[in-house]
Amino acid sequence: MKHHDGMYIDGAWRPAAGPDVIEVVNPADEQVIAAVPAGTVEDVDAAVRAARRALPGWAATPPAERAARLAALRDVLVARKDEIAGTVTAELGSPLKFSEAVHVGAPIAVAGSYAELAATHAFEEKVGNSTVYQEPVGVVAAITPWNYPLHQIVAKAAPALAAGCTIVLKPAEDTPLTARLFAEAVHEAGVPAGVFNLVTGAGPVAGQALAEHPEVDMVSFTGSTAVGRRIGAVAGAAVKRVALELGGKSANVILPTADLAKAVNVGVANVMSNSGQTCSAWTRMLVHTSRYDEAVELAAAAAGKYGDRIGPVVNAKQRERVRGYIEKGVAEGARLVAGGPEAPRERGYYVSPTVFADVTPEMTVAQEEIFGPVLTILRYEDEEDALRIANGTVYGLAGAVWAGDEAEAVAFARRMETGQVDINGGRFNPLAPFGGYKQSGVGRELGAHGLSEYLQTKSLQF
Ligand code: NAD
Repeated sequence: MKHHDGMYIDGAWRPAAGPDVIEVVNPADEQVIAAVPAGTVEDVDAAVRAARRALPGWAATPPAERAARLAALRDVLVARKDEIAGTVTAELGSPLKFSEAVHVGAPIAVAGSYAELAATHAFEEKVGNSTVYQEPVGVVAAITPWNYPLHQIVAKAAPALAAGCTIVLKPAEDTPLTARLFAEAVHEAGVPAGVFNLVTGAGPVAGQALAEHPEVDMVSFTGSTAVGRRIGAVAGAAVKRVALELGGKSANVILPTADLAKAVNVGVANVMSNSGQTCSAWTRMLVHTSRYDEAVELAAAAAGKYGDRIGPVVNAKQRERVRGYIEKGVAEGARLVAGGPEAPRERGYYVSPTVFADVTPEMTVAQEEIFGPVLTILRYEDEEDALRIANGTVYGLAGAVWAGDEAEAVAFARRMETGQVDINGGRFNPLAPFGGYKQSGVGRELGAHGLSEYLQTKSLQF
């Protein structure tokens, strides 16, 4: 086990103020692999003050130089990609190949996209007799979850750095080692002292102190809707800018004209990847009644093939939560066609890839975010029925539509109350705005839309 001490504050690793630590557990074998300091109000205060001191200098740094630091950061992430992927696998449990391709691949692309955006964005424009400047919001508190440990950090830190903001990051308790590697990468990339700071620690202690700190100008949070609601209230009371990326319960709508086998297989893979711990996962598959039985059979077969290719969920509490939902699905009358609540292995926080058929829209498993490898399959009678079911939750983060004709899929997608829809299996685009309708959040991440979250405008009249 490795003991890490220190927080990255003002350009150096400094001893934590208190003696408490957080243990990091490998979810695949339940071994404690490391410990990091549990930050206190004092650590948070030191980090926020460092960020505040560094703000005028970084805000005044020409965008081209900020772009150069971001390009250097991307290069360090590339150079250290194997180490980062290994660390994500050790603390999150995802299979190494997935860590390499997605957990490290996506943030490298996002860091690169912000190096380019910082260099090319129009931070100044003429509007009639005015010049409008886009200026950094200020000191940003970034609070991130464990499910995509590096991606969630980069999706906040890269646009904030591009905008000229300074940052204090409080990563999730379960995945602090990836965050420490990111801090090292920022240092190696030559980002000036105080511009980026890292405080590890518990959400209700370090996270809350950070969100409430009077010298923080903006809180950018990704995590559960419950905590997001509290952070929104704290930010609202202090009139701080806030960005919230929260939960989801997205619909995968398979229209009658779709290539059913493809839609089902991609849909199952989408839900099972990262062991179902993806906020934008299409956890509700909607199939027309005429093709329902065929779809259920295909989905059960696809889920059954996963075997050892699926990693554990992140911790024991999450595993119990997911099993509890599976039991609830059975109790409410859904039909298990793959997986189930039993632990598939003796060691590690594994959950079997699970598929429920005969799910009705009001069931708990069709309404609440499970955050595990659990797919629900619902039946619809016609397009209006499909739309009502698709839009019938408090969430609106993502979704998918499959149809024989792209225009037909687009027409349906335009009526969905959700922030992102993949048409016939459309690919991930690191420049496309990502974020939620309804209780899935406030604001957007990635690309130019993500950058604008960290900017405020000033107009000068002539
Ligand atoms: P969480 O809300 O418990 O924790 C997220 C972060 O908030 C962690 O860093 C945690 O320490 C911190 N936190 C907890 N309590 C806090 C408080 N009172 N004040 C300040 N910070 C606090 O969520 P989680 O368990 O880490 O992640 C899982 C959830 O996040 C799921 O519901 C998932 O849908 C959601 N999520 C959403 C997105 C998105 O982009 N919309 C992405 C990933 C995860």
